Amino acid sequence: MGQRPDLQMHTACALCIAVCMDGQPDKQWLEASVEPRLRQPGRVTRPSRDLPKNNTFAKPDYAIYKSMPAVFAELQQLVDQHPRTMQLDVYNRSDEGYSAAMRVVTVEPGGLTSPEQRQNKLRLLLNFGEHGRELVTVEVALRLLRMLGNPAEAVQRSVERGHGPHRLLTLLRHAVFQIVPMENEAGRKVVEAGALCERKNGRGVDTNRNWQVHWGFREKDYDPAEEYPGTRPFSEPEAAILQGLAEQLKPHVWMNAHSGMEALFMPYDHRATIPDGPEAAASLEILKDLNLQSCGGRCAVGSGGKSVGYLAHGTATDYMFEVQKVPLAFTWEIYGDLTAHYNDCFRMFNPLTPSHLQQVASNWSEAIFVLLELMPRHPQVPNVRALSRSRHGHREISEEGGDERVYLHNDIIRRSFLGPPTL
Ligand SMILES: [Zn+2]
Repeated sequence: MGQRPDLQMHTACALCIAVCMDGQPDKQWLEASVEPRLRQPGRVTRPSRDLPKNNTFAKPDYAIYKSMPAVFAELQQLVDQHPRTMQLDVYNRSDEGYSAAMRVVTVEPGGLTSPEQRQNKLRLLLNFGEHGRELVTVEVALRLLRMLGNPAEAVQRSVERGHGPHRLLTLLRHAVFQIVPMENEAGRKVVEAGALCERKNGRGVDTNRNWQVHWGFREKDYDPAEEYPGTRPFSEPEAAILQGLAEQLKPHVWMNAHSGMEALFMPYDHRATIPDGPEAAASLEILKDLNLQSCGGRCAVGSGGKSVGYLAHGTATDYMFEVQKVPLAFTWEIYGDLTAHYNDCFRMFNPLTPSHLQQVASNWSEAIFVLLELMPRHPQVPNVRALSRSRHGHREISEEGGDERVYLHNDIIRRSFLGPPTL
């Protein structure tokens, strides 16, 4: 079952300790002490002096992290270096005076084709930088693009995972990636100007609450400073552009990268359960395998609404699954400093040292290749075996998923005891 159930059980215990022993939970005590400890399974008791109790006011070092101009320059450089396999498009959209731009890199390692021809490939739509404060996700996107430009390292890693040398190359030849390295450019600008806790877009909307499915529903602990969903579904240019991309590409995979914790989520975000049926069970199996291969078994795995500790309404992943019928619709939470103070946002959402950043970026860019290897296990990922057998005869692509039982985590815990929202 992994760590998460233990964590949640201890969270419930800690909730009781905080409330039952003191009458009312003391906000300062909770923020400084309980909240970090809640995230450490097996260590939930009274505050300890060895955990940070204060906001360290950590700031991004732009000698380690790329600034926005540096990100955009590298994107341009990458597509210039790989004109046969990469294409950069900039989408612009406005709503009532608010304009947003979004850079989208299309990568076809087998050579760029037309949108129609892409329908015969494995199709992945990968979104990074949806929340401005989660800088690390953009670094993952850049590293992924570098690896796709020169897949030798990814192939070597695949061989180290025990696959034949041609397997990943065959999959890559039959794949198209649409990668949004920084969805929320306007929000990121706000963060780079010093508002390190900002997650919303350039006009104060959380674009991961602006989607049609269960839009606008508010939980009791709804915080507009974090989750304002906009005036209507798809009011925000960022969400509308992404929706258009999905409608055109019809992806098999939607992966929305976030940080704040380590987790691999599937629908639903707005309900505390995964969908019924063998397809969802197959998705869960893929996430469980990814957890072992790419997260050291540490990730929470399951429905976002069940596992993250709060229900989220109007999210992109629920829309991609429910409306766009994307079979593998995921939110990945790739990093979180669980000891950080509530308002120490850069520290909470991003690694601080060069080596740690490199480790996270390397691990999660590689995870995309692991996911590509696992995709053929899903019953709604069509034509891969046929493509493979008819064109290349690599039977090893046709791996079957196991029939392990679906499992889910235990009870929902209150967001106020987990910290700010992540997904
Ligand atoms: Zn996020």
